[in-house]
Amino acid sequence: MLAEQTLTSLKGVGEKQLEKLHRLGLHTVQDLLFHLPLRYQDKTKLTPLSNLFVGQEALVEGEIISQHLTQSRNTSLLVKIVDTEGNLLTCRFFHFHYRQAQQFKRGQILRAYGEVRSGPTGLEMVHPTYELFSADKPPALEDTLTPIYPTTEGLGQPSLLKLMKQAVALLKQYPLDEGIPNELLDSLQLPAINQALLTLHQPQPEDDLFQIKQFEHPSQKRLILEELMTSQMSLLLMRQSEKKYDAPVFAVGKKSQALLDDLPFELTQAQQRVLNEIQQDLALPHPMQRLVQGDVGSGKTVIAALAAIQAAEAGYQVAIMAPTEILAEQHRNHFMEWLIPLGIDIAWLNGRMRSAEKRLMLEKVSSGTAQAIIGTHALFQESVEFNRLGLVIIDEQHRFGVHQRLALHEKGKTGNASSDNESHPHQLIMTATPIPRTLAMTAYGDLDLSIIDELPPGRKPIETAVLSNAKRFEVMEHLVAQCQQGVQAYWVCPLIEESELLHAQAAEVTAQQFKDNWPDLKVGLIHGRLKGEEKATVMNAFQQHEIDLLVATTVIEVGVNVPNASLMIIENAERLGLAQLHQLRGRVGRGSKQSHCVLLYQPPLSETGKARLNIMRETNDGFRIAEEDLRLRGPGEILGTRQTGGIQFRIADLKRDQDWIATAKHLAETFLDGATNEQITVLQTRWHGERLAYQRA
Ligand code: ADP
Ligand code: MG
Repeated sequence: MLAEQTLTSLKGVGEKQLEKLHRLGLHTVQDLLFHLPLRYQDKTKLTPLSNLFVGQEALVEGEIISQHLTQSRNTSLLVKIVDTEGNLLTCRFFHFHYRQAQQFKRGQILRAYGEVRSGPTGLEMVHPTYELFSADKPPALEDTLTPIYPTTEGLGQPSLLKLMKQAVALLKQYPLDEGIPNELLDSLQLPAINQALLTLHQPQPEDDLFQIKQFEHPSQKRLILEELMTSQMSLLLMRQSEKKYDAPVFAVGKKSQALLDDLPFELTQAQQRVLNEIQQDLALPHPMQRLVQGDVGSGKTVIAALAAIQAAEAGYQVAIMAPTEILAEQHRNHFMEWLIPLGIDIAWLNGRMRSAEKRLMLEKVSSGTAQAIIGTHALFQESVEFNRLGLVIIDEQHRFGVHQRLALHEKGKTGNASSDNESHPHQLIMTATPIPRTLAMTAYGDLDLSIIDELPPGRKPIETAVLSNAKRFEVMEHLVAQCQQGVQAYWVCPLIEESELLHAQAAEVTAQQFKDNWPDLKVGLIHGRLKGEEKATVMNAFQQHEIDLLVATTVIEVGVNVPNASLMIIENAERLGLAQLHQLRGRVGRGSKQSHCVLLYQPPLSETGKARLNIMRETNDGFRIAEEDLRLRGPGEILGTRQTGGIQFRIADLKRDQDWIATAKHLAETFLDGATNEQITVLQTRWHGERLAYQRA
């Protein structure tokens, strides 16, 4: 069985080689077979020199007409070739031996493969691979595409090709089990697994080489689909296995209505719909696992509070977790305002508590006196003992991977020895980062999804301007004039260096500039190096309008809600992701006043850079922004690195293969309907290999 056969059984694989193969995540012969080419080189045909264009990779041929060294400091070797029609191409080598330079003799034919670039005297190839021969003895062209594999240090293409040859020979002898049922394969007109692998590792001359290069060959589609299907299947299994547990049942009581009656506003239709979905989930005897997506300012906090009330009224505890202390603080204020009048007691934990106060809080939690417990994610790392935890709410968690969610399930368990079944708390996850649907299906496929796709009435879209940093001082003057009219503003200095210190300094310098130039302006400063207490004081002063301008780092990125603030300046906007800009900008436009945002950039701006900032100017729609971000920067930027860690693919590409995700999901559902455990394991070992964290023991 190739799925078990270790790589040491291959010729040329010793201890050292094995270590490098492990680095690529390869352990068995099957793993090697699923180490698929990243791309292909086409050395099957010659491209005429007159047809070359910049950026193209091509195989070319011509007679050498000159060979010389440049006189610059870093000498390079230039070899010029000409074709029968008189078209020229220069091959440029930066590293070469004297003897190598001597090889290029006038009149000889040079055949080169490489990427075409534009050089000082026309088109060039830099460091092409090449062959030399005389005109009367041209060697044969390759008859098929050359696969290029992902490599690692010390394990290059030639070694991988050699190993792959052996693996493919083994595959012909011991075919793999088919993973997808035949009916499904036939209905999609896709080839069998063994055929697909053979084609991709050793494309034949009669295969459609163009399709292969474009990753549109049925063999590639087959593998892409199988990989996406397997990932969807694992997510479905995760979800099903969680649904097998018990969870406490919460009926909707009187207190929810009491809060609704007391609020100064009516819920929007979208809020009402999402609230209904949550209320229904909480009334079921299995753990809710719901993700609420709602654009910035769509009113998620009150929904969280209503869910918390439902749990508390049924006599259970609810943990509310926020990503930053600032946000946790803000939630505490809201929850105190909303829940205490209903007779629901609150506890909170933060990093700056004195030990006596902390002990008191922990006591309230473990004895069950406090029903709502608010804090940062540290809530789950600390030695907090819940009394009857029934609901976990995680706010603003747009970067929370599958693995973290798994860990949470484990922590939240309330092992119930008397019952046969373990009881898990319900989970509500909230995010303000709209994620394109296809991506959400992949990253959050284990969760049910609710979307608040409506903003409270009366909000005016934020007007955004994009300005060069050359206008910085004018922008400062304008801001001050606005503040004198009663406007409150944010000035954000984003992280440029990876150092929290430099980051804080940039904000300090800006705050000082304001103070020096306009001594009457009330300026506050907030950054990650301040102590929790200091942060809370500054935020509070801003909230109370004791401060006109808050100079901040991206610590204010998520959640901060000061409705009177209506002006936001973001420096170095070109360095931030669109999703992050959208989050930051969402700190204004929360009241009924017309809000403005100025994005300052450091010129020169690349074309993509311009395009990105223009999107921010054109729209306030988080979903559109996320689609563009996906298009321009790929899934990693939207989900964050931790998130993509859980969804790395071998052949599928979320950007390229978006259209297949829905099909894959459907396939996974159909497949699971009749699949045996063996069939499931075949697919999971094949595609997840060592990374079986998806699977729950
Ligand atoms: P987010 O979804 O970004 O967390 P918040 O919950 O902070 O948004 O809500 C933003 C602001 O909108 C708050 O001041 C909140 O009180 C207010 N708000 C929430 N829902 C409504 C509504 N239905 N009508 C009017 N204002 C609302
Ligand atoms: Mg919020």
